[in-house]
Amino acid sequence: MSPTPGIVTLKPRKALPFFSRHPWVFTGAIHSVSGALETGTEVIVRAHDGKFVARGLFNPESNIRVRLYSWDENQPLDDEFWRRKIQAAIGLRRNLFHSDRACRVVFSEGDGISGLIVDRFNDWLVVQWTSSALQQRQDVIIETLQAELNPTGIWLRTERGIREQEGLNVEDGLLRGTAPDGPVLIEENGLTFEVDLQAGQKTGYYFDQRDNRQLPGRYGRSGRLLDVCTYTGGFALFAAYSGSSEVVAVDSSQAALDIAERNAERNGLAGRIAFHCDDAFDFLESQVAAGERYQTIVLDPPKLARTRSGIDRALKAYARMNRLALQLLEPDGILITCSCSGHVLREDFEQVIARASLDAGRTVQILEERGQAADHPVSAYCLETSYLKCFVIRAV
Ligand code: SAH
Repeated sequence: MSPTPGIVTLKPRKALPFFSRHPWVFTGAIHSVSGALETGTEVIVRAHDGKFVARGLFNPESNIRVRLYSWDENQPLDDEFWRRKIQAAIGLRRNLFHSDRACRVVFSEGDGISGLIVDRFNDWLVVQWTSSALQQRQDVIIETLQAELNPTGIWLRTERGIREQEGLNVEDGLLRGTAPDGPVLIEENGLTFEVDLQAGQKTGYYFDQRDNRQLPGRYGRSGRLLDVCTYTGGFALFAAYSGSSEVVAVDSSQAALDIAERNAERNGLAGRIAFHCDDAFDFLESQVAAGERYQTIVLDPPKLARTRSGIDRALKAYARMNRLALQLLEPDGILITCSCSGHVLREDFEQVIARASLDAGRTVQILEERGQAADHPVSAYCLETSYLKCFVIRAV
């Protein structure tokens, strides 16, 4: 028997988003809590009039005081519940891909498991907690991942700031099994990529751009392509693979570029890509000053807006980066431009493109507006999960 759940009562008129299945109950929506509940306590959330809303996990240290997981009053958040949630997430990937050996296995709210990210890199899994309360359920979650996917090892990675925001007390490192004794290799659409589980950015690889990395092949012509923020070579490698005559790639991380060079070599593309370690803005500016021209440009900068208050600054940075890229494009050139800042809305990004094009003196058309790959499903109830924007732009 699980312990009796605590009760969280919402303020009057604050229940609607949670009846609509948004999973984050912030402190401001809460009227009262039944006693001093510890992190990880299961709670029943009720509207002010006492009506059942949902079941969730409580965290007195987080601004997201309760994360909601079940809207069925009779469904406790017991081991069986978590097991079925994880199995459902894994099942989705099995149906999506002919091989689920390199993909995001669990995408937090997108899979109804707010606070857990799991990426699979062949025989290894990388687990990331973004909820301290959910982390307390780690035994059943890890056991289920082991039973379903039988990994050689499971590695824990924590994103910057999460320990403080959540009061999360965990050490990054090996959770189960053994660590890889060499580079971990994955396959993506015919190319092989090396992934650094232990020190690479985020979980080590950006699966969310998988489908978009095919765009240089679809839209790119045979001419020169510039890949800005290449990380371990993603777009650049696919561009060279699909026939760009010359690929230039830039990133500010030498560690990422070392892997990118090995990836190019590994796939027989080494002679066709020139990697530069530089700041994206400095590099773009120097290319404009030098009168360089490209037929296709990819912009995939890191999250430029980390918080709501950072949106304005981020929009300016996106506008500047896109303006510089448009200045470098040949007539009839293609710009593949991305934003992974969830706080920057699609409409804001459309306006950034319009502004950048006016500043650059180029007329543009948006050919496609895309998002993240399907192993990062968007929750219809939590639109914050729709964070990646990838536009294909033609500059006349
Ligand atoms: N396009 C990549 C993912 C890019 S992630 C792929 O398909 O896998 C964002 C990248 O931007 C990271 O590699 C990071 O090192 C790089 N980056 C961050 N700030 C930068 C800056 N100011 N200039 C250049 N690169 C930067």
